[in-house]
Parts: sequence; C-alpha cells; structure tokens
Amino acid sequence: MHYCKCALYLSSAVTLLDSKAQQTELEWISSPPSGWEEISGLDENYTPIRTYQVCQVMEPNQNNWLRTNWIEKGDAQRIFVELKFTLRDCNSLPGVVGSCKETFNLYYQEADVEVGRNIRESQYVKIDTIAADESFTQGDLGERKMKLNTEVRIIGPLSRRGFYLAFQDVGACIALVSVKVYYKKCWSIIENLATFPDTVTGSEFSSLVEVEGTCVSDAEEEADNSPKMHCSAEGEWLVPIGKCICKAGFHQKGDACEPCGRGFYKSSSQDLQCSRCPAHSYNDREGSWRCDCEDGYYRALSDPPSVACTRPPSAPQNLLYNINHTTVSLEWTPPADTGGRNDVTYRIICRRCTWEPEECFPCGSNVGYAPQQSGLTDTYVIITDLLAHANYTFEVEAVNGVSDLSRTQRLFAAISIATSQAVSIFPVFFLSAPSQVSEVIKERVQQHSVQLSWQEPEQPNGVITEYEIKYYEKDQKDRIYSTVKSKSTSATVNNLKPSTAYIFQIRAFTAAGYGTFGPRVEVTTKEESTGSGDEQNPVIIIAVVAVAGTIILVFMVFVKFPGTKTYIDPETYEDPNRAVHQFAKELDASCIKIERVIGAGEFGEVCSGRLKLPGKRDVSVAIKTLKVGYTEKQRRDFLCEASIMGQFDHPNVVHLEGVVTRGKPVMIVIEYMENGSLDAFLRKHDGQFTVIQLVGMLRGIAAGMRYLSDMGYVHRDLAARNILVNSNLVCKVSDFGLSRVIDDDPEAVYTTTGGKIPVRWTAMEAIQYRKFTSASDVWSYGIVMWEVMSYGERPYWDMSNQDVIKAIEEGYRLPAPMDCPPGLHQLMLDCWQKDRADRPKFDQIVGILDKMIRNPNTLKTPMGTCTRPISPLLDQNTPDFTSFRLVSEWLEAIKMERYIDNFTAAGYSSLESVARMTIEDVMSLGISLVGHQKKIMSSIQTMRAQMLRLHGTGVQV
Ligand code: AMP
Repeated sequence: MHYCKCALYLSSAVTLLDSKAQQTELEWISSPPSGWEEISGLDENYTPIRTYQVCQVMEPNQNNWLRTNWIEKGDAQRIFVELKFTLRDCNSLPGVVGSCKETFNLYYQEADVEVGRNIRESQYVKIDTIAADESFTQGDLGERKMKLNTEVRIIGPLSRRGFYLAFQDVGACIALVSVKVYYKKCWSIIENLATFPDTVTGSEFSSLVEVEGTCVSDAEEEADNSPKMHCSAEGEWLVPIGKCICKAGFHQKGDACEPCGRGFYKSSSQDLQCSRCPAHSYNDREGSWRCDCEDGYYRALSDPPSVACTRPPSAPQNLLYNINHTTVSLEWTPPADTGGRNDVTYRIICRRCTWEPEECFPCGSNVGYAPQQSGLTDTYVIITDLLAHANYTFEVEAVNGVSDLSRTQRLFAAISIATSQAVSIFPVFFLSAPSQVSEVIKERVQQHSVQLSWQEPEQPNGVITEYEIKYYEKDQKDRIYSTVKSKSTSATVNNLKPSTAYIFQIRAFTAAGYGTFGPRVEVTTKEESTGSGDEQNPVIIIAVVAVAGTIILVFMVFVKFPGTKTYIDPETYEDPNRAVHQFAKELDASCIKIERVIGAGEFGEVCSGRLKLPGKRDVSVAIKTLKVGYTEKQRRDFLCEASIMGQFDHPNVVHLEGVVTRGKPVMIVIEYMENGSLDAFLRKHDGQFTVIQLVGMLRGIAAGMRYLSDMGYVHRDLAARNILVNSNLVCKVSDFGLSRVIDDDPEAVYTTTGGKIPVRWTAMEAIQYRKFTSASDVWSYGIVMWEVMSYGERPYWDMSNQDVIKAIEEGYRLPAPMDCPPGLHQLMLDCWQKDRADRPKFDQIVGILDKMIRNPNTLKTPMGTCTRPISPLLDQNTPDFTSFRLVSEWLEAIKMERYIDNFTAAGYSSLESVARMTIEDVMSLGISLVGHQKKIMSSIQTMRAQMLRLHGTGVQV
C-alpha cells in the first residue's frame, strides 16, 4: 500500500541526482581504483547509460568504495535514494565460496561544500545494507535479461547544504545501473478559491506541513475560516480547512472569481450566485454589488440590495371631513399606489389662510392632532383647537420609507375648510384642488373690456367645471375685487374703466374646490375715444359676482355640452375594422405598460396599467384584453365597444384612450377608474357619504346619460354595476355595446319577447315589446338612483323576476330608501311612469338635481318619512289629482276628508300649495296618526309627479 502511494505521488518529486539522465561520464570517486569501475551501456530502451560495476568475488577482504559527486540538497528535508542494480548469486559462481558476498552498503556524508576527493570511511553514516530481491545466476553482467532490483532508502533530516552518497562493496558482483536522489514537494494548487504554494514535505514520515492559503483575486477569506491545507510527507495535499469566497460583485467560476454580468449583482460574499437586478433597478457595469434605482425609484437606507426599488406613494384618496365648530376630523382611504412598499404612513399639514389676499401660514403648535400629526398609520385624524371663523387648508400626505429621498413633487390630498360653519359648507369631495392657471394671454384689450384666454392648469386633478377670474383696479386703495366666471378657457371682462390698469388672476374649479389663483396679470384698458362703442357684449360672460372681502363659494356651475354629434352604429359598417379605426386611435403597444389584473371581462382579463404617449404625461389606464384563441366574431364584438366608446367625449362617460388591433393581445385602453364599479363601491362604503355627495354622483350619471341621449345612443343596460367611479368620486357611464352586451350581463334573463333583459332595471315597454329608447334608459336611471340612495341594495330585493314584472304591471313602485330625501324618491317615481312620455328627460333630471344641490335644504330628510320600506311597494292606482280643483275634492278622493278643516285653517287653499307640503307641514296640521300622515304624503308625492308630467317641471319641495 505504502509503495503504491509512493508511485502515485512520484510526480511530486524534485530530482537532485539522476545518473541515468547524465550522458557524459559520471566521474564518481572509486577507491581503490581497482574496485568500482564506470562502464557505459544501454538500458532496456537502448538508451545509453552510465553504470558502475564491481565483481571482486574471488579475493577475500574486499572494501571497495564509490562516492558520488556533491549533491546540493536545496530546501529538501527528507531525501529519497532510489537504487537500481543487478547482483550475482554467489552460488552460481564456481570457486568463490567464502569471499563472495551478496550485499553492499549505502552511506552518506553531509557537507556544506565539496570536500575534495579523499574518502574517509569514518565520516560516513551508514544508511543500510542493500540486498537484492532478485539475484541472477547466468549470463554476463551486462546482459539485458538480468533481473533489475530497485531499492529506495530515505535519509534526513539533513542540516548541511549538501551531501555525498557512498557505496561500499565488500566482495559482491554488482552493477549499479542507476542512482536517483530526490525529495518530495506538494506542488502549488488552488483549492476552495485559495492558492497554496509549492511546499516541501516535512522531515518525518509522519509529519504534515500546515500551509496557509492565499485567496485568489476577487475572493476573500470566509470569516473565522481562513483556508489551510496540509502537505504530507508523500507530497500530497491533505485535510483542507477553511475557504475563500468570491467578494461582493463576483461569483465563482471554476477556481476563479468572475464579475457579475450587467444587469446582475451580488451584494455579499456570502451569496453564492449573482442575481438579476430587482424590479425598478438596473446596472450597466460588471462586478456590481448592487443595482441602481431607475429614475423616480429609490431604496431606503434599511432596504437590502435584494429588494425592488420603490417610490413615494400616490396621494391619499377620498379625503372626507367633518367639522364640529373648531374641530375638524379628516378621513381618507389609502393611496392607490403605495409605491411598492408596505410602510405607508400619513402626515397632516395644516395651514390657516387669509381670504384676500389669499395667503396661508402654518397652523403652529396650538393646534392639536389625535392620534398625532405625522406617522399616522390609520386613515383618520382629528384636528382640534382651530380658530373659529377661520379658513384652513389641510393636506394629507402619504409617505413611505423613500418619500424623503424623492425630489419629485409631493402628492397629497387637500381640502379647504372654514371653521364654525359645519352645515353650510358644501362637502368638498376630496382630492387635490387644480393647480394654478399660469399661462394667461391678453386676447383683446378695449376701452371697457379685456378679453383673456388661458391654458388649462397642468394638473387639473379632476374635471374643471369653471374658471373664476378675479380682478381689481391696480391703483385702487381699498382693493375691491370683482369676479367673473367662465366655463371655457377664455372670458371677456366688461364694464371696465378706460385708461385704467387692472390686475387679473384666474383659478380653476373642480369637485375638489378652487385651485389657487395664478400669477397677477396687469392690463391697462384703452383710452376713451369719441367714436361709437366698438365692443359687443360677449356671450361667454356667465356671471359677474362682485365680492368685497369674501368669496362666496358658488358650487354648482354646469357646462352644457352641445350634442350636435350623432352616434353611428358600428354595425352599419360593412368592415368592422374600419369602424374601429374611424372612432378609436390605434395605439402602439410599446406605449402601454400592463401592471396588474383587476377584473375579468367577458372577452378576457381587465388589467390596470399606464399609457405613455409621446410628448404627453403618462396616465393610468384600464386595459381590456381579448383572450387568445378568439373567433373573428368575438374580436368584432370585443372591438365594437371601442367603436362605440370612441364616439363619446364627456366627463361622465368613460373615455377611450385607444385600441391595439395590430398586435397581440388585442386591447382596448380606457381611462382608469380607481374605485371600480359603482354598485360594489357603494356597498363597500355603506352609509359613508352625505346626501349631497350621493346626489353629486347621480348628477354626474344623469349628465353622462343626457349626453348619450343627445347623441342618439340608447344604453339599454344602465345600472350601477355599469357605472365606474374614479378617485374623485366622478361617476362615468360605461359598458357599451350592442344588444349582445346585455346578453353578457349576468342580470339579464330571457323574457317572453325573446332576448335577454336585465328585468329589474328595464322599463315595462322594453320588457314587453323590446321598445328601447332614451325614455327606457330614464326608467333604468330611476333604478340607478334607487341603488345609489340605498348604497347598492338590490332593486326589489330577493323578489323573483316574474314577481317584479307582475308588481310593476300592477302599478307598484320601489319605495324610498332609508334617509332618502322625498324629492329624490319623487324623481325616481317620475322615472318609473308607466307611460314613457310622462317620464322626465335626462336634461330635466340634470336640472332638477342641480336645483337640489344648490338648495341643500330641499335634500333634508323629514323625520319618519324615509325609513327603509316595511310595506314593499307603493300603489299607483290613484286618481289624476290634476283634474281636481279643490283641496276638499282631493281629500275626499283619498278618503281623508276628515282633515278638510285642518287644511283650510292652515291656509292651504290650492292644490299647488298642497303639492309643496313636506311631512313636517302635514304633521303641523295636527294629523297625528302615522298611517294618515303617510297616506297624505304619498298622495302629495303622486300629485307632484302628475303636475310634473303636466307642466314639465318638478314642484320644489
Ligand atoms: P367589464 O368587462 O367592462 O364589465 O369590466 C370588468 C371589470 O373590470 C369591471 O367590473 C371593473 O371592476 C373593471 N373595470 C372595467 N373597466 C375599468 C376601468 N376603466 N377602470 C377600472 N376598472 C375597470
């Protein structure tokens, strides 16, 4: 076994002497000269070799010495001496008995330098007596068939620089064929990314030499585990301990560390592999230990390099408030985009503002915040100790771990509130007000008028319904302001003085309230001329409101959108592709970034994402995709919605950004509506909105429907589930298509007239003989009103469709939802008039709702009238009250004649005056029975509806 090892590791040997390798004479010293003799021969490979031979077997007392030249030992400690020789068997030699020997002796002598040619036997140290394993009996000494013996002896440790070997023959017949002297080394290797240098073995057979490794380049020692190996006496590396590991930015490839490629990183030496850069990060260098964040994305100090880069959150949403004298509570919902982090908190910035000029100052430390002002984890705060009768602006900012690193504009939800006016202030729905109107152009300057135009603010943050132009005479001491309002981005201000310098400022108004005024623009009117007036009274002036000192918040200003365009049915196109491209913009798929799936549509997934058109800001979008493997018909039907939607342009109709038809998947890209469908949204926020807010939503839907009906488009499936709501609570009509859209509506069922119909939302005539018109859309709108006011309750609850149809035919109608102002329920009832000609038009509905919003008192719920229905439906089989002339006639018709005197005594002499009565009025007549109160009220409501039908206007409650 041991022998085997030696053979294996011979390659680790360093030769000091090899007689075979020498071609010239060896010229070792032979003493006496008659003893050992140098003879040239051939080895078994016919290679010339030098041998020493001696064969003085006939004479006794032989002592023949042969000494090698001086051998420099170098760094060797253990020296191996390998001898190859042949030796003659004495028995085979006749007549040599007694003198013939079969061994020889091996010696060495240490010496720092060569010591001359004399051999002094006493100075040699005996290594061994060498005997042959194989001796031979026949043939000559030079015979090649002779058996060659190999013997190895080890000497050491040696202390001098070199040594001699000596061979003592005492009467044998020997041929010393080769002498080889060597020592062993462990050759340099790389193990565990550490380099171990050439190492000479130890002096003892059993000793191991411990060697420290050196890490290869770009590697480092593993902590407390430095690399070590052991060089054995056999020149063999043994027992590796510890290791090196590739540094951060490098990974192991074979015995080396290579840099991570571009787009990859390795953050620590502990990691084995380079990893791909996490989301929103990149690097374009090799050997990176981390990746850099993309523009607009950041890494918090505590974020490890392995996590995605993140960004500050978007603004909180749905900011609502409540004022109680000098305490304001704010509530909001988390931002739509948390920036990719889950450490979002909120901070409140409070500012007190003066009215005119409008300047805001930090609220200071006297104001209290519960639970606190910043680091809020919940989405509410109560702000106390505000000043009474003061105007405040509150900003709610969502912050996360990277907000402080970002230099981009802060996003926050903001509202302006005046304290101590808890009820008289309109709730501002939420969100940020529009940014400044800064680019104002003087279009026309006259003696008495100035025409200005301007750009929409860069961040409208909602639909701008109005602009306010504030102006005053520059040199006037008491600074009395006047204001003009405009619904477009231009206005003419009249009644100005000639040759006078005026200062103009403009601000925009959205559902969030007014933005701040833009910069002051100075304009000097022309000098008075004697000629005739050159100014026409421009039509675009809507109102001039002179305001001294305070601004009156005029909330409702609505724009009438001209309905000159007509809807074109895409089915009339022979080539449906032409229809799509006529009405929808083809988008480049590379402009669209799909972010996540938000819903399942009929044709495929609905996703949210971003659309970045060249030269425009990127916008959030919903992306409807057409699933793979579609048929041509499915593709046509899918794109049909885009062909229809693309024809519309109204703030209350979902806006189509475009389509992708020339790539896969086929996509329809629509403006993103953060709060999803209205029915689910209301159910989620049951009871959380004010009546004004609900009416605001209804007003939006009615405005969208007015636009659609003006275009000649009949929706056929108007329902809260088909209205989408954005983060500003703006409701938009959606889900367009041909009749097949209804087929996809899970609410639609087959009726006896054929085709599927969403029965609960559909007018009688449409159910019975498929008469779909804008008037049937009005019926559906009434149902949507009921859904909104009941926060997403299912119309007709769990009644079966058959029962619903029966009840409607019999004249029953849905009762007012809980807390629903009677005026609103009346409007619903009007929408559900049996005769479709009696139903209000969308235009009238918008007008009625506008009036209600302007006079919030009309939306107060009389106590006890509008509780959730106990008896499900109202009876409409009542007489036509408009045919009565006297109050008494009416009371008799409803079998309430016992109260004739009560009405007369209170001065209700005409049916018109009765029609205006509220439940309080009825109670104040002394009618105490609740059943009677309800009966009279219900009859009054019917009377109003009948009058509306007759006169085309509602009676103001
Ligand atoms: P639809 O196929 O139009 O019924 O869409 C399926 C679902 O996707 C809807 O119920 C919504 O929740 C959602 N969705 C559709 N369009 C939008 C949009 N424009 N913005 C946000 N969510 C949408």
